[in-house]
Amino acid sequence: MKKIHCLNPIAKCGTELFPAGYEMTDNVADADAVLVRSASMHDMELPENLLAVGRAGAGVNNIPLDSCAQKGIVVFNTPGANANGVKELVIAGMLMASRDIVGGIEWCKANAEDDNITKDTEKSKKAFAGCEIKGKKLGVIGLGAIGAEVANAATHLGMEVYGYDPYISINAAWRLSRNVKHITNADIIFQKCDYITIHVPLMDSTRGMINKEKLAIMKDGVVILNFSRDTLVNDDDMAAALDAGKVRYYVSDFPNPKVANMERVILLPHLGASTKESEDNCAVMAVKELTDYLEN
Ligand code: NAD
Repeated sequence: MKKIHCLNPIAKCGTELFPAGYEMTDNVADADAVLVRSASMHDMELPENLLAVGRAGAGVNNIPLDSCAQKGIVVFNTPGANANGVKELVIAGMLMASRDIVGGIEWCKANAEDDNITKDTEKSKKAFAGCEIKGKKLGVIGLGAIGAEVANAATHLGMEVYGYDPYISINAAWRLSRNVKHITNADIIFQKCDYITIHVPLMDSTRGMINKEKLAIMKDGVVILNFSRDTLVNDDDMAAALDAGKVRYYVSDFPNPKVANMERVILLPHLGASTKESEDNCAVMAVKELTDYLEN
């Protein structure tokens, strides 16, 4: 019997998907493999007998990749399995930054008891007036599973889409070419786009990639969306750019005390892939990868 240790709530890890010959273990020291969602493995003592880690999700910054490599532990993630879930929330974020949906909802709640609400609606319609995304320029930094989905969806909404990804394969670039104008220098995207969305992994080379130098060359009133990892954006620089009105809206899938209480900021608690469909897809793929590997 092969043993798998689950670091996140079991139901979310897909233990019911284990084929015959596999069981769960609470004790990582006994495990042949670890299945993990977004919990951090950085403080975990990696047992000598551990063969593999399955990350049910895309980002692997919660996995100690160097220690795994040194010990010969293979790490799998589930590329693309949650891309649709994240894409839908990115599009929602873009629309929320363009139409004051939150302001409108709060206004209706606050004024629900007001007898003059119908009359007042005329005033609030002006106060909450927004803009349309059709015809606007969207820059997508990183054209992997999620970036490509966002780029395609944005084209269908009438946006002009520019993409930057220095590592994209020829095949992937070709598939996207009808919808995305490929740019080989990210600065051109920063200079010309009305909306910029980041879909790159967090690595030393990408940490803080949105910083004061890059913000300075962006258009006044740019909208920035970060559904990848919090520290891709330098939060002090973002706070200053919001304060100065350089950034019109910042939408991020990560709580962040530096900007949480600022105007024109929408923060979410890492909800991008929090849909039943994405969770199921990731669990199925992670369990399959791990068990296929342990079989061979
Ligand atoms: P992916 O590996 O399919 O795509 C990442 C792309 O980034 C690749 O094509 C790569 O070539 C490109 N890239 C790497 N460095 C770059 C750089 N410096 N500039 C431009 N492009 C660069 O991954 P994905 O599934 O699209 O996910 C992207 C990131 O989104 C993940 O690493 C993860 O951190 C994050 N994510 C967030 C959620 C959420 O719930 N908010 C869910 C899934 C993934």
